[in-house]
Amino acid sequence: MSPTIAFTFDLEDHRPDRAVERRYVAIVEPLLDDLDEWGVTGTVFVVGDLIAESPDLIRSIAERGHEVGLHGTDHSPLPELGPQRFRADVEAFTESLASVTGRPVLGFRAPTLSLVPASAWAPEILAELGYVYSSSVLPARNPLFGWPEAPAEPFRWPCGLVELPAPVVRLGPARLPMLGGVYLRVAPSALVKWAHRRLRHHPAPWLYAHPYDFDPDEVRWAMPLVGRMGKQIMWWGRRRMRPRVRGLVAGSDLTLAAIASRHADAPVFHPPGTT
Ligand SMILES: [Zn+2]
Repeated sequence: MSPTIAFTFDLEDHRPDRAVERRYVAIVEPLLDDLDEWGVTGTVFVVGDLIAESPDLIRSIAERGHEVGLHGTDHSPLPELGPQRFRADVEAFTESLASVTGRPVLGFRAPTLSLVPASAWAPEILAELGYVYSSSVLPARNPLFGWPEAPAEPFRWPCGLVELPAPVVRLGPARLPMLGGVYLRVAPSALVKWAHRRLRHHPAPWLYAHPYDFDPDEVRWAMPLVGRMGKQIMWWGRRRMRPRVRGLVAGSDLTLAAIASRHADAPVFHPPGTT
């Protein structure tokens, strides 16, 4: 039998500036209807800046039974924020998110999975602010952010916060988070099925996606830093994302908070350089 994979979603507005049309609300509303139809409740991580902009959408997400967590402040990677600003922003956004949803905020996901050695100060701050778990580490080498020395299965930080790292599969020398974002969109179906089978025994399997992954009609805009190939990949496979996600998570009612509660006594990982 296939494992139940948790559906997770990073609610963000990936436009480079306000001159480009805002699309995330129009994409997420019908997606929420689809999730209802597929019998899926999961975890949605919201970028702090969107809480004041779209409270009705966020309230609707919570009312449909999804867990709502925080996805950073303005989607800046954690090393760019530094601990002081991180603490202040997370404290403020956590309060406003809890007041919109009427529920405590238990989980955090770092933008671009940017919990890396340079931002290893973050777990302690999250624990102090009442967070129970984080889902912020990519335990692999990656051109953007990754922490290849971190455990690939659930662990605890020395402060007690549970970490649910991105589930990765080995493909040659690489460890890839195949069940999410660009990997899930661009991979051939056979590779997705293979990754799904390989993750059968993972103790905390989750899939991740973003609004734009489900938006085949978005006009292409000049994306900085990614180059021509990167731009192709950002728009590639969006039309097949819906059926793929449905095939992987239909019927799943697992939230990351529920998974984290199973790993409350996971082994402690001491980042190198700490004791
Ligand atoms: Zn994100």
